[in-house]
Amino acid sequence: MSWENKHFESPCPLKREQLEQLFTHIDKMGLLRFSDGTISSSCDHTLNISIEFAKSHNLNEEVLVDWLIQHGGCCDCEVLLNTTMYYEEAIEDDKSLD
Ligand SMILES: [Zn+2]
Repeated sequence: MSWENKHFESPCPLKREQLEQLFTHIDKMGLLRFSDGTISSSCDHTLNISIEFAKSHNLNEEVLVDWLIQHGGCCDCEVLLNTTMYYEEAIEDDKSLD
């Protein structure tokens, strides 16, 4: 039932839709993910884009940052590289429950 808890190190502070929005937002902000998994980025090695997202959605940015770092997202491009893998696993599992 709770997709957000099973595959994550700690419960995801975002709803599934919000997490998807965060990934889309980082993509839009200039980080391009190619089908082979490489990233073309103007990443400044911070989580500024994620923090901006948290602020504009009235989310607790510290909780989100802690969670992202725990899931391999130490900067915005790593969120797309690493955190999305946790997300995709969770999604896959969710599908199999349908
Ligand atoms: Zn980066």
